Amino acid sequence: MRLTAAGRELLLRGAATLGEDLSPTIHLFERLYARLTSVNQKINLTSLREERDIVLKHFLDSLTCLTSGLLEGPLEVVDVGTGAGFPGLPLKIVRPSLRMHLLEATRKKLRYVEETCALLGLKGTAFIWGRAEQVAHQPEYRERFDRAVIRAVGPMGQISELCLPLLKVGGYLIAQKGPEVAQELEGVAQGLKPLGGVLEEVKELELPESGDQRRLVIIKKVAATEPRYPRRPEVIARHGLF
Ligand code: SAM
Repeated sequence: MRLTAAGRELLLRGAATLGEDLSPTIHLFERLYARLTSVNQKINLTSLREERDIVLKHFLDSLTCLTSGLLEGPLEVVDVGTGAGFPGLPLKIVRPSLRMHLLEATRKKLRYVEETCALLGLKGTAFIWGRAEQVAHQPEYRERFDRAVIRAVGPMGQISELCLPLLKVGGYLIAQKGPEVAQELEGVAQGLKPLGGVLEEVKELELPESGDQRRLVIIKKVAATEPRYPRRPEVIARHGLF
């Protein structure tokens, strides 16, 4: 399916409210939209079907990460549990200097993301197939990244354990959450200690056009993560750090 003129306008207008001029890259979003909607008829990539929802809840929602101000320059970024490429692909389109590593446990989703990057001509992308619990113990990836972004993968205690071991000291986790995240942050200071993280900010924002409430949880890595983290998936699920 092609993005309609109304969808295009919505995307341009919404991005402008986030301070982003998408006119130089709108053709890439059009190709991304056409590819996502056509492949989604064959494999289940997203439950969103309406054009307005895809523009708002995938494209623009991904771009809200930029309001952190932490995604500027040639940084090594990992998108943990990228699924169909969110937030990583929209971020890579508008900030081509980011080196974007897309990490995903489901092979067919990652293959879709890889083929989509090739189709869009996105250079400086890399693809990591596996669970973050295992990937983060591989020397090649441990404490390797400047930034981790993550959306819709789990509660804060769990995703912190998945992401912080992947970050260099001095790096940042930018987690996309809803307003309910306040409850997930109880005990955060103590819970982040063995991971080497400190909570820096919970940034409140609204999704353009819909006004839906969003939060960006920003955690700074200030010390090395203890080697035993992340633990096995079933242990993390049962005994979250906070
Ligand atoms: N981030 C995407 C988004 O917001 O549209 C996808 C969200 S989807 C609900 C969660 C994705 O995370 C799934 O594709 C799942 O396979 C992946 N995932 C969940 N746990 C993971 C883990 N431990 N390591 C890697 N990928 C994981």
